[in-house]
Amino acid sequence: MSALRLKDVCTGYGHINVVRGIDLDIGSGQRVALVGSNGAGKSTIVRAINGLLPLRDGRVEWDGASIGSLGASQRTRAGIATVPEGRLLFPECTVLENLIAAATFGDAKVHRAQSLETVFELFPRLRERAKQMTGTLSGGEQQMVAIGRALMTRPKLLILDEPSIGLAPKVVGEIFDVLGRLAKSGFSLLLVEQNVQLSLRSTDYAYVLRQGQIVFSGESGALLDHPEVRRAYLGD
Ligand code: ATP
Repeated sequence: MSALRLKDVCTGYGHINVVRGIDLDIGSGQRVALVGSNGAGKSTIVRAINGLLPLRDGRVEWDGASIGSLGASQRTRAGIATVPEGRLLFPECTVLENLIAAATFGDAKVHRAQSLETVFELFPRLRERAKQMTGTLSGGEQQMVAIGRALMTRPKLLILDEPSIGLAPKVVGEIFDVLGRLAKSGFSLLLVEQNVQLSLRSTDYAYVLRQGQIVFSGESGALLDHPEVRRAYLGD
């Protein structure tokens, strides 16, 4: 059974329906990519999943139940965590304060010390910099804090919106290694990326979005070899 299922989802802003007829499934422990060029509607789909944008049509199901009427914080409590584009951290708080601030409810609060240890094991650099002001960290380190903050909510699904943007290849490699380890330990991942090559190499299954609609979907490896995908997104 899919952990997350979108059925015929339509949503948008003002008079415009930005995405239409979206069917998307993420299995438990599956790594799924959502790719497409600038403005295709990727972040809009993320908002439909995490509850920041109401649906205009269709359904979002989580563990078999409709969650369309749940607000964003209820969806976080249910196990869906987002690492937003631009990270949206508290720059004038320390790394530790940013991490702790995410674990203020229910199970996340009860298991806060354990989650913190897990985050520090995944990103040893954050342990070293726990007391450093977050705004003074490098871009890569800030991305690690943003992922760590999402993990502090003890999610089952981690949604990452453009995690590689603006980062040096070496740091991107480190971050994607951690994402691979998380998937192996049972997390489901939705990776939203403009870097099509990177995201198809790092996931099991992928959806290609163009002007608000899914135009291709399939095993990521197969899409990497798909002539039209190569022509449109990989510069062939
Ligand atoms: P990018 O990679 O540039 O973030 P994207 O694929 O994530 O692109 P979205 O951010 O979902 O695309 O934007 C899709 C469309 O919706 C764009 O035309 C954008 O201008 C519009 N849009 C996004 N956010 C809003 C908003 N808050 N109000 C009105 N229109 C918006």
